[in-house]
Amino acid sequence: MIFRQLFDAVSCTYSYLIGDKKTGQAALIDPVIGKTDDYLMLLEQLQLKLVVAMDTHTHADHITALGALHEKTGCNTMLGEQAVASCVTGNFSHGDIIDVGELHIKVLHTPGHTNDSYSFYLLGDKQPMLFTGDTLLIRGTGRTDFQNGDAGQQYHSLFDVLLTYPDHTLVFPGHDYKGWTVSTLAEERAYNPRLQVADEQAYVELMGNLHLPQPDLMDVAVPANQACGIISS
Ligand code: FE
Repeated sequence: MIFRQLFDAVSCTYSYLIGDKKTGQAALIDPVIGKTDDYLMLLEQLQLKLVVAMDTHTHADHITALGALHEKTGCNTMLGEQAVASCVTGNFSHGDIIDVGELHIKVLHTPGHTNDSYSFYLLGDKQPMLFTGDTLLIRGTGRTDFQNGDAGQQYHSLFDVLLTYPDHTLVFPGHDYKGWTVSTLAEERAYNPRLQVADEQAYVELMGNLHLPQPDLMDVAVPANQACGIISS
């Protein structure tokens, strides 16, 4: 497998390139529009063909590269079935398997940060890997106070979906504001302050008391991303 964790410094977003060496097929998770040329260069250098670009959810803090990548490469573009972006070439739902050559990505619906939040579990590799979007961050969890967010749903996404995978599963989040790149489920279970709650009610209270400011780009990014990042003026 070819794997690259890519970083957008403007929004502290991580994007992930997953490539299958045998077939030369590749997927990009959560690509950022300003990095499109970098992705195209990297794909060419690694001799990979992009077959799918997909977002874990409709982002409020950066503009997606889904539309731009589709225009440049003809790749499929995907978001969860709850997303309102009609410009994608397909939607995924819980339990779907997305094939990237001989690699297989299991789709997990993990709502709470948004109603269209998904995580991806890479099947078959000896080292289990979870791409958790903004559902589970390193020592944090995604806010639940806008975009149809729901702290109660997020509690169940965390405890009944993500934390059921093996302890040594690597956790690759959608963002990190301190530059932490990877964690494990065991580490998060033990040290993530948001996971040290007794029950759903305690989690809902914790998330209700965060008082976070609105993201700078929200009013621009959400409508742009509902158009796959392609704005026709
Ligand atoms: Fe988000």
